[in-house]
Order: sequence, then C-alpha cells, then structure tokens
Amino acid sequence: MEASAAMDQALFSLSGRVALVTGASGGLGGHFARVLHGAGARVALAARRPEAVADAVAALGERAMAVALDVTDAGSVEAALDAVAERLGPCDLLVNNAGIAATKPFLDQTLDDWDKVMAVDLRGAFLVGQAAARRLAAAKRPGAIVNIASILGLRVVGGVAGYTAAKAGLVQLTKQMAVELARHRIRVNAIAPGYVETDINRGFFATEAGQAMLKRIPQRRLGQLDDLTGPLLLLASDAGAHMTGAVVVVDGGHSVNPI
Ligand code: NAD
Repeated sequence: MEASAAMDQALFSLSGRVALVTGASGGLGGHFARVLHGAGARVALAARRPEAVADAVAALGERAMAVALDVTDAGSVEAALDAVAERLGPCDLLVNNAGIAATKPFLDQTLDDWDKVMAVDLRGAFLVGQAAARRLAAAKRPGAIVNIASILGLRVVGGVAGYTAAKAGLVQLTKQMAVELARHRIRVNAIAPGYVETDINRGFFATEAGQAMLKRIPQRRLGQLDDLTGPLLLLASDAGAHMTGAVVVVDGGHSVNPI
C-alpha cells in the first residue's frame, strides 16, 4: 500500500523540470506557479513587469525566478526563454495562462477591444507555445504545454465576444498543436475552468446577479484555486503521459447544465 502511494506521488513529480507560467502576477497564474514549484519544478514567473511577481518569487525562494514577458511581443518571448534557460535550464513545461477580456455588448465592442483580447489570449498563446516548442524540438527534448482556456471557449455568455472567440480559438490551437507536436514528444492540453473565485470577481458573485449565476452551476459553488491543482499536475506531469489534445473542463458541471 505504502509503496503504491509513493509510486503515485512520483508519477505527479515535476522534479528536474523547468516551468514557465505566463501572466503569473494574476490570481490563477500565481497559483499555478506555486503548484508546479511544490511538485519540484524550477519555475519562472513571467509578467510584463517582473516586479509584480517579486514577492511571489521571494516566497517560493530557491528554484524560482521572475522574468519579463509580454506575450504579444515575439522579441520579448525569445528574450524570456533565453533568460529562463540561462538561469534555470531550458523550459520544458509551459503554462499559457495570460489572458484578458473586454466586457461590453457586441454592438459596442471596438476593433481595439477585439485586437487587444485576440493579441493576448490567442496570438500570445501561439507565440509563446511555438517558441517553446521550437526549442524543445530542436533539442529533441520532450515537454508539456498547458493552455488555460475557459468554458467560454466552449459556450457563450453575453458581453465578451472577443474573449469567447479567442478562447474557442485556443481550444482548437491546443488540438492542432497536440497533433503536430506529438512526434516531437511534446504534449499539449488545455484546462477550461468555469468561474473561479478571485479578487476580481468576488464582488460580483456577492450581488443578486452573481448569486443567480451560481444557481446555474450544478455544484452550487464557484471554483476555488485549489480545484485547478490536480488537473494542472495531471496535464503537466507523467501522470498524463498519454494525454494530448485534451480539454479538461473544471467547472462544477456548469457547462453541461441543460438549464
Ligand atoms: P488575472 O487578470 O488575474 O490574470 C491575467 C494575467 O495576464 C495578469 O497577470 C495580466 O497582467 C497578464 N497579462 C495580460 N496581458 C498580458 C501580456 N500582454 N503579456 C503577459 N501577461 C499579460 O486573471 P485570472 O483570473 O488569473 O486569469 C488567468 C487565466 O485564466 C486567463 O487566461 C483567463 O482567461 C483564464 N480563466 C479565468 C477564469 C476565472 O474565473 N478567473 C475562468 C476561466 C478562465
């Protein structure tokens, strides 16, 4: 029994791996970095302003670094991967987490709103994912990429036209990359979270409209950061060795609720 528990833990170990988490100054990104670090990985917390993750890096201590990265800028992506390789080793685990939304009715969305959301949520994931995969393929090293999509990439809600389109694109990009990168031993999967409680939405879910939305979630609760811990470790580690092109929905049943 004990031997099998130890073996199970080894299956989820990320010891020896070098992870890069984009958008690590945000709620989910900071959590993902802590989880990967806790599983033994060396972790680069990437943010446009590295000082935004300085405290998180200090709290993690050894095996963690801050790195400047704007996911919309190809030069910034290459510079960040270089800096990570130099300090921690070549990146073999990427979490494409950076994401933004522009919330307004479709008729009021501007081209600028559309372009900004697409640039971060879809183009950014393409740029960082391709750059990381190119380096792994050139070095003939295996790796894993986890794209943070959303249930709004699978269904829609009012007021976020660019976001739903970008996340749907990210779901398709995940599958495309999985197919093309399998022969390079690079796995590519996505997590599609439902509504996860963070500082940004806590106020909304305390309102009447927020409470009404909660009632549409079969489990009658928001996701918590820890609900994403297991799914992330599964996709990042050898526990998910035969998983690629998967979209793991973590939403308390929200997206399958028929009402
Ligand atoms: P957040 O706003 O706290 O974090 C997003 C991060 O992306 C921020 O750190 C921001 O600085 C960063 N970012 C924005 N533009 C960037 C750029 N050009 N380059 C690099 N980084 C950039 O939001 P969050 O809730 O932590 O969301 C993280 C991811 O999870 C996003 O992709 C989001 O779409 C997805 N998601 C969140 C929820 C939720 O309920 N919070 C649900 C489903 C999916």
